[in-house]
Amino acid sequence: MIEAEGLTKFYGSIGAIRNVSFQIEKGEVVGFLGPNGAGKSTTIRILTCYMPPSSGSARVDGLDVIENSLQIRQRIGYVPESVPLYKDLTVSRFLRFAAGCKGVGAKRIKAETSRVISSCGLEKNANRIIRNLSKGYRQRVGLAQALLNNPSVLILDEPTIGLDPSQIVEIRRLILELHEERTILLSSHILPEVAQLCQRVMIINKGEIIATDTPGNLTSQLQKSVKIVLEVSGASQEFAKEVENMAGVQKVSVVNNGTSKFLIETDPSKDMRPEIAAMAIQKGCGLLELRTMQLSLEEIFMQLVTEETPGEVAE
Ligand code: ADP
Repeated sequence: MIEAEGLTKFYGSIGAIRNVSFQIEKGEVVGFLGPNGAGKSTTIRILTCYMPPSSGSARVDGLDVIENSLQIRQRIGYVPESVPLYKDLTVSRFLRFAAGCKGVGAKRIKAETSRVISSCGLEKNANRIIRNLSKGYRQRVGLAQALLNNPSVLILDEPTIGLDPSQIVEIRRLILELHEERTILLSSHILPEVAQLCQRVMIINKGEIIATDTPGNLTSQLQKSVKIVLEVSGASQEFAKEVENMAGVQKVSVVNNGTSKFLIETDPSKDMRPEIAAMAIQKGCGLLELRTMQLSLEEIFMQLVTEETPGEVAE
């Protein structure tokens, strides 16, 4: 549904993205994740035909972004980071205008406007001037505008930026509802948002795609060590050293100021918990707690974009 092949963009001499390639299948909800300045908006502006790439090519629904720019713009729904709205118009007047721009035929404009007003929960605000709406409701108007003409592809650039927590929850719920029959590409620098909404994540950093997978696979594949929390009673001074010397253990750190709680980093290829439990008992310790800690997608992301080693990732 969306294909990018070697997309590169220079703003003057500044390289914003380099050789970005990916494919998004029909019906997928894909998160485009990266720190600020990574190149998300640049990629999205190319896919939405706002500007051409310096080199490379992209197709949306089989159409080329350079050669078929008008057709693509009529077929996709795009919510840019700050939605350009005519704030002196009422919601329904603005949406009727936007429908005309998107090529919705005169006879269908009224019905199409009512449809998107209802999909985005804007019924009560349809006759209000946009300027007087809260940020969350303006974002809904942006989404409603994107849904005109019932596009099969929705591209959302940081859809919850600048919203307060309850508005964020509302907009995310709306996006989840919208995804039923659509392909969605959603950029964000907020990990929980992407993990919650997307089946697949592409991580971009410094203009290059550095990982693409499901949130779950990214977490397990990129995990270079398994972290185990061990709490014992009666540990000797040397206990940490003895655990560290076990085959498969990479590092042991003392978690609390006492000596009874340890964070043990082990090889991800095998589950070391039984051996660690046996060792603790053999050393005469009382076993209080033994569990593995899952690396969160957030930690994986930080590893990727800061090139830290797993041991250096903050707890
Ligand atoms: P993101 O959306 O991930 O925050 P952008 O695509 O906006 O990243 O930016 C990528 C890089 O391109 C950044 O270094 C940014 O400063 C630069 N950039 C973006 N837009 C422009 C522009 N219009 N002119 C010059 N540099 C730009």
